[in-house]
Amino acid sequence: MKRIALLGATGSIGRQALEIVGAHPELELVAAASGSQAIEGLAPFTQVGGDLTELLERAQPDLVLNAVVGFAGLPATLWALERGVDLALANKESLVAAGDLALAAWERGGGRLLPVDSEHSATFQCLEGRSPEAVDSIVLTASGGPFRGRTRDELTDVTAEEALAHPTWSMGPKITIDSATLANKGLELIEAHFLFGIPYDRIEVVVHPTSIVHALVRFRDGAALAHLGYPDMRVPISFALTYPERAATPIAPLDLASGLTLEFHAPDLETFPMLALAREAGERGDTYPCVFNAANEVAVAAFLEGRLPFLAIAETVEETLAAADGAPARDLGDLVAADAEARRLAERKAAVA
Ligand code: NAD
Ligand code: MG
Repeated sequence: MKRIALLGATGSIGRQALEIVGAHPELELVAAASGSQAIEGLAPFTQVGGDLTELLERAQPDLVLNAVVGFAGLPATLWALERGVDLALANKESLVAAGDLALAAWERGGGRLLPVDSEHSATFQCLEGRSPEAVDSIVLTASGGPFRGRTRDELTDVTAEEALAHPTWSMGPKITIDSATLANKGLELIEAHFLFGIPYDRIEVVVHPTSIVHALVRFRDGAALAHLGYPDMRVPISFALTYPERAATPIAPLDLASGLTLEFHAPDLETFPMLALAREAGERGDTYPCVFNAANEVAVAAFLEGRLPFLAIAETVEETLAAADGAPARDLGDLVAADAEARRLAERKAAVA
């Protein structure tokens, strides 16, 4: 029996995780949390809002699936890493914001860190059992989102409704907007850097419109291993929850004879500046990735509320990064302070945009 705590149980990842848990008698849901929706009776321990680490302390799970959205997921990530409790991580924002602090906690705790983000689950599987020295580079694929192929001029007036219409993945609103700006791939770049210990200049992003290849690892001997499958988050969720068993899922096998073609392009960094901003924040290190994330969360919320035009999301993040003073974070308190300061700066920028 594997005792699972599911944080973010009412979200897109959370609901798909419930389906996976329900299909496997050896997975037992002992705790569930949501931000605001009622979830009474879903698990022996439940909590709505509040400090998620209190729920984890009470439930003492074998594995935490962190599917909360945003910086709010950070204390739970650190709780699991520090204690050596296996962590299935969908909440990429926490790893981006905490960076080295999360890695230090992971090393002290010694548990498993299993990525749920599809590109990182794919990379993890391509890397499994191979020595890091043999790796040349990692390639993360991006669908390009609903605005792939457009120019900046064509993005001036796009609405939240248009931005929420993702071509290949069905996800929560925040990550869907992040996919439209390419901020999601920026967060994933930083996430990959910390998960796999690969320098930024050896992590490439390519646009792959059909989202069939989720990631690819190039090795020093010239071979490249790729991970393919239909875009369905139940695959990486199941992989993480049943690791290392790779249990069966109801997902159809790839039909190659149906005329499947694989297309790749360089991303348009001019139209979608968030990817380059994330790379720069990652390379600067310290609390800059935390600032990038916080400013993005503020700008995305403002866009979804109709307070900010689409193109001003990147402008808000760029100006916030320029105004913020990054510094090494010594503990969670430092990160909370850096996050709060970046939010204040970003709110001010967004108010005048
Ligand atoms: P979502 O908006 O659908 O769900 C978010 C969940 O988090 C909800 O259950 C909500 O109640 C909960 N939540 C929000 N704030 C909370 C708080 N303060 N305390 C406790 N719970 C809180 O989001 P999602 O699309 O499921 O994404 C969740 C995470 O997974 C994000 O970090 C996202 O980037 C990542 N992710 C999602 C997908 C996907 O397909 N949806 C793919 C890859 C990665
Ligand atoms: Mg992803």
